[in-house]
Amino acid sequence: MRPMRRLPLSTPNEGPESCIFCQIVTRKAPSNVVYEDARYIAFLDIYPFSRGHTLVCPKEHGETIWDMKEADIADLFQVAYKVSKAVVTAVEADGFRFVQNNGEAANQVVAHVHVHVIPVKMEDKGRFSDRRKFAPAEMDETARLIRTEMARA
Ligand SMILES: [Zn+2]
Repeated sequence: MRPMRRLPLSTPNEGPESCIFCQIVTRKAPSNVVYEDARYIAFLDIYPFSRGHTLVCPKEHGETIWDMKEADIADLFQVAYKVSKAVVTAVEADGFRFVQNNGEAANQVVAHVHVHVIPVKMEDKGRFSDRRKFAPAEMDETARLIRTEMARA
């Protein structure tokens, strides 16, 4: 296989110490965690496109999906699949998007692999909403509802 090209990133980091998502994994940074196992973590996006917008990440630091082992990519999406069911049920959405951006050109903002799980309601069909900011209490409540659904699965 040819050596892999590194994708340009807007906020490249030198590894776990300077990475906000690694800090969420180790709880050095706050977040609304909705799921976690030995290798993956899911938490609410701080600037969500919709209520319940969740990010699913491998705990191991890697900038883009090209940094992951192929078998781990399958596991990452399996977690995202489970999270999508909990999120859609928790916020009573009618559909959802998986979005997985790699590189600055693709609007990847944080240089740690992540899958967006974005719930969408019928009234928002065809509309790509702007990012929003919810009050901390609303974020806490949304996370609680998603955790409840994850535990039910
Ligand atoms: Zn990281």
